[in-house]
Amino acid sequence: MSDASATGGSPVLRMESVRKAFGGTVVLRDVDLEVAPHTVTALIGASGSGKSTLLRCANLLEDIDDGAIWLDGEEITDPRVDQDVVRRRVGVVFQAYNLFPHMTVLQNITLAPRRVHGVPRAEAEARARDLLERLGLGDRHDAYPDRLSGGQQQRVAIVRALAVRPRLLLLDEITAALDPELVGEVLAVVRDLKDDGMTMVLATHEMGFARDVADQVCFLDGGVVLERGTAEQVFGEPQQERTRRFLRRIV
Ligand code: ADP
Ligand code: MG
Repeated sequence: MSDASATGGSPVLRMESVRKAFGGTVVLRDVDLEVAPHTVTALIGASGSGKSTLLRCANLLEDIDDGAIWLDGEEITDPRVDQDVVRRRVGVVFQAYNLFPHMTVLQNITLAPRRVHGVPRAEAEARARDLLERLGLGDRHDAYPDRLSGGQQQRVAIVRALAVRPRLLLLDEITAALDPELVGEVLAVVRDLKDDGMTMVLATHEMGFARDVADQVCFLDGGVVLERGTAEQVFGEPQQERTRRFLRRIV
C-alpha cells in the first residue's frame, strides 16, 4: 500500500468507504483509496468492475451514496463545496479523445484556461505551446483534430487536461480506442508526466504499462477493491485467487 508519509506529504486524493449505486445496483462498495503526491495509482479489473465510476466519483461527475472523498485534505463530498472549483483542480482524459472538432489544437487547449480560469490569451497560448512542445506536438498548434492521428489527438487531450495545472490527473483507459501502433506514444507521455511528478490515477488494460509505471495497483472486482499493493506485489505475488485468475486471462 502506498504510504503517504513515506513520500512526504498528505494524500492528494483520499476516498473512505465510498459507495455508489445506480438504481438498485451497487457499483462501488466500501471503497477506500489513498493517493500520495507524485505517485501513480493504476486501477485494474474486468470490464464493469467499477474503474470508470471510481474515477468519475473522484471528479464529482457522479454523486456518491455513502462515504467521503478528500482532495488535498478538503472534503469535496461536503455539499457546501463548489463542485466547479473542485473539477478545475482535477484533470480528466477519457478513452475517446473528445476534442472540439471545429477548433484548432491551440484553441482546444486554451479554451478552459481562458474561459474558466481567466488566464489572458497570450499567457494561455504560451503555456499551451510549451506543453505541446514537451509532448512532441510543437508543430501542430494550428491543426484541426481530424488532421491528427489518434495518438496525437489523445496527446492533445492530455495537454488540454494539463493546461489548467491540475493537482491530480485522472486517465480512463486513454489508449483503449487507439490502434496498437499508437499506444506507445501516449503511454510514453504518461511516463514523462510521472517523471515530472504529476499525481495520477489511471484505469488501464495495459498490464505491462501498469506494472512499469504504477506505484500502487488496485484490483477492482464487482465494485470492491479486492487487492491492492505495489506493482510487484499485485502482479508478482497476487494474494487473491480472483486476482490471479484475472491476470492469467489478461496478460
Ligand atoms: P469499468 O470502467 O470497470 O468497466 P464502470 O465503472 O464503467 O466499470 O461500470 C461499473 C458498473 O456500473 C457496470 O455494471 C455498469 O453497467 C454500471 N454503470 C456505470 N455507469 C452507469 C450508469 N450511468 N447507469 C447505470 N449503470 C451504470
Ligand atoms: Mg471503464
